[in-house]
Amino acid sequence: MCCDNGCVPAPVVDRFDRPLRSLRISVTDRCNLRCQYCMPELDYAWLPRENILDFEETALLADAFAAAGVDRVRLTGGEPLLRRELPVLVELLSRRSTISDVALTTNGVLLAGHAAALRAAGLHRITVSLDTLRRDRFQALARFDELPAVLAGIDAAARAGFASLKLDTVVIRGCNDDELAAMVSFAREVSAEVRFIEYMDVGGATRWSRENVVTRHEMLASLTDAFGAIEALPGRASAPAERFRLADGTTFGIIASTSQPFCAACDRSRLTADGLWLLCLYARGGLDLRQPLRQGASREELTHLIETVWRLRADRGAEERVANPARDVLIPVSALKRDAHLEMHTRGG
Ligand code: SAM
Repeated sequence: MCCDNGCVPAPVVDRFDRPLRSLRISVTDRCNLRCQYCMPELDYAWLPRENILDFEETALLADAFAAAGVDRVRLTGGEPLLRRELPVLVELLSRRSTISDVALTTNGVLLAGHAAALRAAGLHRITVSLDTLRRDRFQALARFDELPAVLAGIDAAARAGFASLKLDTVVIRGCNDDELAAMVSFAREVSAEVRFIEYMDVGGATRWSRENVVTRHEMLASLTDAFGAIEALPGRASAPAERFRLADGTTFGIIASTSQPFCAACDRSRLTADGLWLLCLYARGGLDLRQPLRQGASREELTHLIETVWRLRADRGAEERVANPARDVLIPVSALKRDAHLEMHTRGG
């Protein structure tokens, strides 16, 4: 299916005709924050270091995915900037003619020191996760007093020339749902676009409850109160965020994964730092690509494997969660301790 002369292959499609286009690559399961909605526990089981893919291995897998149709890659984690020499991987990926978009999702704590090098390495886009603008609240939510570092990171990213900066805010009732308007205004000030994410019952969210989810509907009501009329923007395609515009032209997004999931348009999959390929954020298991890779499988063989598995894909994980009347915490702590692959911080967001 792939052309070696750089032309873009047609993506393989699954049973619901969903193409494989976007790959989120987690480069580490370690994180330097402990956000309550993601890593609320005191102890974690980490992936063994010897299993973590090196950059050549990651790039080879990226080639195998690109030959199956992937043309967009997002680096994530854990906290991706904890991975040493990350710009080296960015350069490896951004040099590939088959990959048109290399993006990064970061908590921003280390961004000030890395933004320029990432830009020079060819990174196209950055999303910074930022849940609050209040320092005391940040510390309570993330368990580290790092808001000033994150703000410096956002500033450095803009100065390094990242034009389309995004800010991702997980909205939790009684925690930061009084800051929606402030986040929109802050994003406008720093020429970024904020996207509000509904609190999701993913693995690792062991404090999740239905009551704490602020829905898309509630967010729009609160923002209408603050800013007046809000216009929905067309052209979402496979993007997770719906975009909206205020009367003054300011735009923002909402990712309603919990109340109004978008499985039908999902063209994403995820690769953990140790090479487990997950077809859905809610999947209980995945396909181990590290083993065939380390046993010497060729790029063509890996692509064949990827295409075969994607063709069989029929999951609609988030939609199934909505349909579950007894919806509660997805995975108990005991199961998370046995298998780190079930954790959101291992899967990447
Ligand atoms: N450390 C990086 C960061 O903070 O952006 C990348 C990894 S983090 C797991 C990726 C994204 O997942 C973040 O935007 C985070 O807010 C989101 N996330 C984690 N747990 C979540 C949950 N329970 N509900 C919604 N989003 C969640």
